[in-house]
Amino acid sequence: MPSFSNRLPDKAKHMGFDIVRTPTSGNLVACITSEDLLVVDTHYWNGRTIPCERKTLDAAGEATAGTCEACNAATPFRTHVYVAAFRDKTHDHFIFECTAHAAKAFAEYREKAGTLRGCAFTASRPKQTKNGKVVVETRTANLCHMTLPQPPNLARALCTIWRVPTPDHASMAQGYSSATSEADTLLRGPGVLLQADQLRQQREQLDNAGGTLDTESARRRFLADLVAAGGGNGESKTGATAK
Ligand SMILES: [Zn+2]
Repeated sequence: MPSFSNRLPDKAKHMGFDIVRTPTSGNLVACITSEDLLVVDTHYWNGRTIPCERKTLDAAGEATAGTCEACNAATPFRTHVYVAAFRDKTHDHFIFECTAHAAKAFAEYREKAGTLRGCAFTASRPKQTKNGKVVVETRTANLCHMTLPQPPNLARALCTIWRVPTPDHASMAQGYSSATSEADTLLRGPGVLLQADQLRQQREQLDNAGGTLDTESARRRFLADLVAAGGGNGESKTGATAK
């Protein structure tokens, strides 16, 4: 027997978010629901977009720098910026993708307003060509007549689209020690390591290796890594014990 209802399906059953780019002609007009930008390097690899993994942490918390397959095949990466956005007209909640250059307008808005949530924007390609430069204009949305939905976890949504494992919360927090809240950490997405974080990670690995590795060879390997990474400022115990 069919099960009829007068109610639309629950919003929680939403099956995922689409990535929307600036159209070739016409404008994209929407309002941002995320608090902040999410920046990630991607490759076009084997016919699809994948995130560059040269500086991320794997599930075990190990640094995997240098293991990005696309990087190793000398495939260039592009930096993309993502925000969750909502179109009031169509009630469409999606992920907007643009280049870092186009996203400067978002960064400036966030700088002034403290958040991107409620930032209305218009994105267009003035030259009306497929990969023409994108221009983004921002303004504060009038929220009197519009209720903004809660933003998705952008990192998780993107990982689902890319079909890659979601970085767990621990490794994401490790990559962003400056994150102030869990939501902040999650929004910042895959734990991209800065140079300093990478060095800190290697130090921790040395300390943890005592039980299973020969300490002297571990120390030598660590120092070689440190030099290769451009560190070696003599701070810390390893500098003192090096021969
Ligand atoms: Zn890569």
